[in-house]
Amino acid sequence: MTSRPVRVRMAPSPTGYFHLGSARTALFNWLYARHTGGAFILRIEDTDRTRLVPDSLQDIMDSLRWLDLDWDEGPEAGGRHGPYFQSQRLPLYHGWAERLVQQGHAYRCYCSEERLAALRQEQLARKAPVIGYDRQCRSLTTAQRAEREATAAAHVIRFAMPTEGETRFVDLLRKIKPFDNDHYRDPIIIKSDGFPTYHFANVIDDHFMEITHILRGDEWLSSVPLHVNLYNALGWEVPVFAHLPLILDPSGVGKLSKRKKRGEGDEELLTYIREYRAAGYLPEAMFNFLAIMGWSYSPNTDVFDREQAIAKFDIADINAAAGALPMTKLNWMNGLYIRELEPADLAERLLPFLGAAVDMADDELRNHAALPLLVPMMQSRLVTLNDAGELVDFVFAQEIRYDPQMLIAKGLDAAGSLTALAAARQLLAELPFEESALEQPMRDLADRLGLKPGQLFGILRVAITGKNVAPPLFSSMIALGRDRALARCARAEELLRGVMG
Ligand code: GLU
Repeated sequence: MTSRPVRVRMAPSPTGYFHLGSARTALFNWLYARHTGGAFILRIEDTDRTRLVPDSLQDIMDSLRWLDLDWDEGPEAGGRHGPYFQSQRLPLYHGWAERLVQQGHAYRCYCSEERLAALRQEQLARKAPVIGYDRQCRSLTTAQRAEREATAAAHVIRFAMPTEGETRFVDLLRKIKPFDNDHYRDPIIIKSDGFPTYHFANVIDDHFMEITHILRGDEWLSSVPLHVNLYNALGWEVPVFAHLPLILDPSGVGKLSKRKKRGEGDEELLTYIREYRAAGYLPEAMFNFLAIMGWSYSPNTDVFDREQAIAKFDIADINAAAGALPMTKLNWMNGLYIRELEPADLAERLLPFLGAAVDMADDELRNHAALPLLVPMMQSRLVTLNDAGELVDFVFAQEIRYDPQMLIAKGLDAAGSLTALAAARQLLAELPFEESALEQPMRDLADRLGLKPGQLFGILRVAITGKNVAPPLFSSMIALGRDRALARCARAEELLRGVMG
């Protein structure tokens, strides 16, 4: 264990959009840093030049900022351990690789791609127990080495792993069996393009950035023995490891990274933070939700805020077992957080979502007279911000479209529905247009017509909103305004006449 001040890092490769699992890793690192008063570092591992995706760095930073996971050092934050892009640290890696070569811990390998491919084929064919480099270049004589140096098109630098024995290390979350060293046949540390491999750059940087704890996905577990041997060869202290469990898809079967639709009606799995954001999840809900994916605040409490999470976070409370993504819980939680927002705050957050649904610019929508009426109606019903359009688009549409059959109430025919609707429109035209003044007279009207209130209200709901399920009827009418409400009733009567032929 280390007694140095805690320094943790998130080390994404800019090879794609920021994944939900990465966000969870970032969150746990951040929580640990904030809990201990340590530092959270963002380092960009951009050494695989073939897999770089241009806008992914921006997406990583946007996603972290959206979740309000601020980094103390890294891109755009600076810090005294920079640069924080591996591609800007090449001399450092070269210097240490050279030193390892001189000390006999690493060596130049001149084997061609063709030779390595043939070697792999041959090992596969004879079902060799270990598939890997045969270490030919490890034992070259000085003369052979000089000859290859002169003739080979390119070379890599490989780490000379111990050829026997085992490597042991401790992970805070699970018991680790010793790894057989011979399994790691001299991995490459510097590639032929001069860039380091992930393993080498990662170890060098974690050392020089004084990282004390490595919390990352458990897909990296099998790399740790190599890393530990690198630390040992370099004579450096090995950080503390905690490998986080996988997040599985909601059925608990597959990896979340695989996008799949299992059957008709299944929703597409959201994989990237940007997708959750676009789907109208609140960052506060997402923060809370990510925190409970593998960590438990307390056995009976799932809902907590940032400060509470910081105060309680402990690596020891992380569950090492992989868990399914509980989408139902996220939806529930998002609704909960939406209901807790100040209405003005909710209105502001809804603008881009509602604006996109009803084709209105933020400013236009912000000043729309109906918005203050609609926000409380939506607040009690939204699961995500994106649901807003579906709920209240009828207020903004010039004309609503629906199947005229929907106007025919259960137990009535078109003529009966028409009579009821016409009577309701007439009454509506006479009543003061205030929410509290509408309901009782309409109930009385239903009574006089020999209808259940539900029958009459159902017809009116379709006439006003075009939907069977909508926010409360009389609030919807008020939001629409008297003239438009009356016009929609008149239009619905026309449609009913059309049905009657
Ligand atoms: N660059 C690695 C990744 O993209 C970092 C793994 C680690 O945290 O060591 O996941």
